[in-house]
Amino acid sequence: KLDFHPSGRHFLQIPGPSPVPDRILRAMSLPTIDHRGPEFGALGLELLDKTRQVFKTQGPVIVYPASGTGAWEAALANTLSAGDTVLMYETGHFATLWQKMARRLGLEPEFIGLPGSEGWRCGVQADMIEARLREDSDHRIKAVCVVHNETSTGVTSDIAAVRRAMDAVGHPALLMVDTISGLASADYRHDEWGVDVTISGSQKGLMLPPGISFNALSDKAIEVSLKAGLPKSFWAWDEILEANRTGYWPYTPSTNLLYGLNEALDMLLEEGLDNVFARHQRWAAGVRAAVNAWGLEIQCQDPEVYSPVLTGVVMPEGVDADAVRNLIYRRFDLSLGMGLGKARGRMFRIGHLGDCNDLTLMATLAGCEMGMKLSGISLAGSGVEAAMHYFAENAPAHASDS
Ligand code: PLP
Repeated sequence: KLDFHPSGRHFLQIPGPSPVPDRILRAMSLPTIDHRGPEFGALGLELLDKTRQVFKTQGPVIVYPASGTGAWEAALANTLSAGDTVLMYETGHFATLWQKMARRLGLEPEFIGLPGSEGWRCGVQADMIEARLREDSDHRIKAVCVVHNETSTGVTSDIAAVRRAMDAVGHPALLMVDTISGLASADYRHDEWGVDVTISGSQKGLMLPPGISFNALSDKAIEVSLKAGLPKSFWAWDEILEANRTGYWPYTPSTNLLYGLNEALDMLLEEGLDNVFARHQRWAAGVRAAVNAWGLEIQCQDPEVYSPVLTGVVMPEGVDADAVRNLIYRRFDLSLGMGLGKARGRMFRIGHLGDCNDLTLMATLAGCEMGMKLSGISLAGSGVEAAMHYFAENAPAHASDS
């Protein structure tokens, strides 16, 4: 509960759901139409085509009326059989949850990663994947599953390097990538990186409310799905692919969220994906300038893989990050991401994705700085000043320049 009567806008600076732009809210407010009528098919075909552009694929992208977790399940259920070994890499809390899901579905996940807390502070080590696949000479491992942007830590992973590692061994496993929080904020290339199934969601870079999620498919993934043994019905790709040919779904799709998706895709493609990525990189750099000026640690320890989507801010020893976060929420109506899993209470996460601008981020950083001071944390300097300097000195690339 807030310490004051709410006025003005709430600051939703968690790393998803991200703020939904008015343009998308308006698009979603149109009347729901007949999902089997002629108008709908045209909408379906248009938005599926634009969706492929954002995933950078020529192949099909399935859209589910489900959260990202549903699309995780769809990826596994469509391609694997009971007892299959899957190699999963521990980058953080979401990788851990996906691994738990694999176990619940009757798969045999092997969970590898750097030891101790280091794994949650670095990206996927492709050489570890390569070494494990090299040992697997009888090809018991059927899929390699990695998270592109680990939302619990603010660390990205080099997906092209994972593909290179698999190719170096000539291993036939499928490559599955969760870019639920990466897509449309961080560069992502389904085809070029040789990904077989890409999983994503609506409520992050796509700037939509939660409720729809995606599987982008390679030809190989589709071929493998024809023989995969895990039970599936709602998630089954075959009927959806068939219906999608004419822009329809085999069941009732989330019509109004699809209006929103269509609008979001227009916004992203009008701006140009490279400009979208540059905008996120710049915000992330401004936020990191603030964290450095505060004298606090960033959860990600490898500057090569800093996330453009969010920054994990580690609290000094003995400080309860959740208490700080709660104070900031109550006093300033600003939501920050909590520490998840192993990082619970150790850090908070600042989302800088989607429909933000320099000033919303300045307000966010001001809320953080005031809240940390009120919590008695002694800061080395003003992060707000450092970020103001960064944003003022580093003008955004003008969209028409590129
Ligand atoms: N994977 C990642 C990287 C996520 O960030 C999330 C949600 O934040 C999920 C999976 C789970 O998605 P959802 O909460 O939409 O089911």
